[in-house]
Amino acid sequence: MLSVILPTYNEEKMIRRTADAVGRVLDGAGISYELVFVNDGSKDGTWEEIERTAAEDPHVTAVCFSRNFGKEAAMLAGLANASGDCCAVMDCDLQHPPKTLVEMYRLWEQGYEVIEGVKRTRGKESALHRASAGLFYRIISKAAKIDMSRASDFKLLDRRAVDALLLMPERNTFFRALSSWIGFRAVSVEFDVQERTEGESKWSTWSLIKYAVKNIVSFSTVPMQCVTVAGFFVLLLALVLGIQSLVKYFSGHAVEGFTTVILLVLIIGSVIMISLGIIGYYIAKIYEEVKGRPRYLISRRIGSSARKSDDDCENADRQEAGTAGEPGRT
Ligand code: UDP
Ligand code: MG
Repeated sequence: MLSVILPTYNEEKMIRRTADAVGRVLDGAGISYELVFVNDGSKDGTWEEIERTAAEDPHVTAVCFSRNFGKEAAMLAGLANASGDCCAVMDCDLQHPPKTLVEMYRLWEQGYEVIEGVKRTRGKESALHRASAGLFYRIISKAAKIDMSRASDFKLLDRRAVDALLLMPERNTFFRALSSWIGFRAVSVEFDVQERTEGESKWSTWSLIKYAVKNIVSFSTVPMQCVTVAGFFVLLLALVLGIQSLVKYFSGHAVEGFTTVILLVLIIGSVIMISLGIIGYYIAKIYEEVKGRPRYLISRRIGSSARKSDDDCENADRQEAGTAGEPGRT
């Protein structure tokens, strides 16, 4: 059975439509499936819409987060609550074409374990968005040592790959890169990003910048090494200026150079501040990881994935991801 995981955040208009579209395609191809909706703390009627759809369509199961935990957490929750032999993750806005699912499933049947959807075209975007996405992917590709320039979250994973992903203990996950990092027999499938028909993208420029920084830091320590490089650079500058100042001192012209002093104080001051900021960011991330809070909290469930009674707010993460220890409640 194929489990299709659909993270949703304020997608009330898309639930029914996506469930129908995906169902039609998979039924048509004779693939048995379940749809796992993850309601990521939507503020509109998304959960009610999922409940309505589930009442009519026995393929639908769902979990509801207690608040918005972000798409990464939603995808992991979907994977943890899916019971299929393979799991596909796709957006709930039909920007990932359902017919590609069939293509992916056929590759899975041939024995591939990680089938990655790669974007043939990126869909409609502003020039600035395209340029910054390009820069982000160059950095992250270097960091993860995988070409990610056309990567997406649209993937189909074998049960073995899913279990491997769920074993990752880290809180700051980057699904797109982790799915390559785990290895296994991988192949990619091209697809065209469709246009969004209803609702709007949940990503503002600011949230994209935060997302980029977070993921670069979660995959690479290069920014911290830049601090060392900057240190050496400043040391070199110090040597040159030091020699110059000494020469001036001994030749009796030492009073001049006040501008140089101001400039040096400013430059070194900013380099130190930026460096501390970078190191501070890593420390903040370590702090988050050390606290070991669950990635998400589930408040409600529908369907076969109901391992606990409804309205039982549980520490789903630790139990389902197989990390040792009782949840924080007694
Ligand atoms: N999404 C989510 N939680 C969030 C933001 C988005 O589950 O905090 C879901 C959203 O409902 C959609 C998918 O992630 O199914 C992709 O979001 P969106 O279409 O806004 O992103 P874009 O396609 O613009 O990259
Ligand atoms: Mg979208």
